[in-house]
Amino acid sequence: LVNSGTPVVRQWVSKLDDFPATSTILTPDTELGNLYLIEVERGCNWGCRFCLVNNAFHPMRYRSIDKLIAQAELGLKYRKRLGLVGPAVYDHPQLEELLGKLRQMGAELSISSLRVRPLSRIVLRELAKGGARTISLAPEAGSQRLRQVIKKSISEDDILESMDKVAEQGVKLLKLYFMIGLPSETDEDIEAIINLVIKGKNILDKRRSGCRLSLNIAPFVPR
Ligand code: SF4
Repeated sequence: LVNSGTPVVRQWVSKLDDFPATSTILTPDTELGNLYLIEVERGCNWGCRFCLVNNAFHPMRYRSIDKLIAQAELGLKYRKRLGLVGPAVYDHPQLEELLGKLRQMGAELSISSLRVRPLSRIVLRELAKGGARTISLAPEAGSQRLRQVIKKSISEDDILESMDKVAEQGVKLLKLYFMIGLPSETDEDIEAIINLVIKGKNILDKRRSGCRLSLNIAPFVPR
């Protein structure tokens, strides 16, 4: 490897639609082996401070719905369940339409992660009808102060409201993602995670929909 002193030139696919990104090796002997994965978009318009995606892949680009449907048709020959992936799948401007069409095609659906706010009931309903067993949301921090530090612009009410919406649709498992060890974190921020989770759990229990709560708490690693 020779360092010539010149900057590395970014490799850039000018038309995403011309380069489908889907599962190419299909085997049950791997994580997500029961899914046919389809990249829906590339990049993210949000600017969480711990994440490089916004800068590294700017500007955010979406694949056209026609191409995504064509990829889904191919994928459904091999798998019943489609996994829609990308850093911000939820922000695809035609997501509701896409999910509706995929369901009409008989697809079972899975999505890499949803946004806490806004969280569309239509999207949740389509995912639930499409057999989604798990919905993942990422508050990332328990306290409002720390969420502001990391530029995760969602409030506690937003988080609790979105948890309620998930339970309302009868989804069986809700996963919440948090990070610990964020810069400036104190014991109060950790306690805030616990308090937030307890409040959210009470909301799920009130719904009596059988929605279980699972926590993914990972050490802070810049992405
Ligand atoms: S963490 Fe997610 S929402 Fe935030 S900038 Fe990265 S990809 Fe976007």
